[in-house]
Amino acid sequence: MNRVLIVEDEVRISSFIAKGLKAEGFTPTVVADGVIGLDYALTGEFDLVVLDIGLPRLDGFAILERVSVERPEMPIVVLTARDSLTDTVAALEGGAADFMSKPFRFAELLARIRLRLRPLGDVAPEEIVVGDVKLDVRSRRAYVGSKEVELSARELALAEVLLRHQGQVLSREQLLSLVWGYDFDPGSNIVDVYVGYLRKKLGSDVIKTVRGLGYRVE
Ligand code: CA
Repeated sequence: MNRVLIVEDEVRISSFIAKGLKAEGFTPTVVADGVIGLDYALTGEFDLVVLDIGLPRLDGFAILERVSVERPEMPIVVLTARDSLTDTVAALEGGAADFMSKPFRFAELLARIRLRLRPLGDVAPEEIVVGDVKLDVRSRRAYVGSKEVELSARELALAEVLLRHQGQVLSREQLLSLVWGYDFDPGSNIVDVYVGYLRKKLGSDVIKTVRGLGYRVE
């Protein structure tokens, strides 16, 4: 319950939030673009979204609308300028979101985030099965057929992300930020290295390489 997506195009603000959240034990991921922010918010890999309204390509209201239809359980804290507070409150009526007017103190935001993250019961499935491969998410165990396979914590995290998005292409950048965190060097080949480990352990045909795009499980 600690993966927070921050969709905010002002670096000063996003890094302020990310630093504060990290210090509190959260795993923040920062996205500065509305279209990418929506994509990430819909992956299911985050526990909460901190959402700015004025964003390049797609504004926060549009993101809010899509997320509340497709992932109604996702808590959202909207950041808004004080002069547009009325609009924002109207837009939030009936939704799962909360709002925070800029400028704000980190402690206020943190309190809202903590409130929104109170456990409401785990809605994610406990077992993910793709072909012969089975992941028991609760007990953190992996199986191929009936045989248990030893995976490291990072391998398990990567396997979980890939298996949960069966049929969907995930880019190296997405995997990097979902499994390793936003501040990892995007030029790193660590994703490819770990996909190699997983292929050795789970079978060479489970994870397909989609040339120029990333990886897909089918
Ligand atoms: Ca903005």
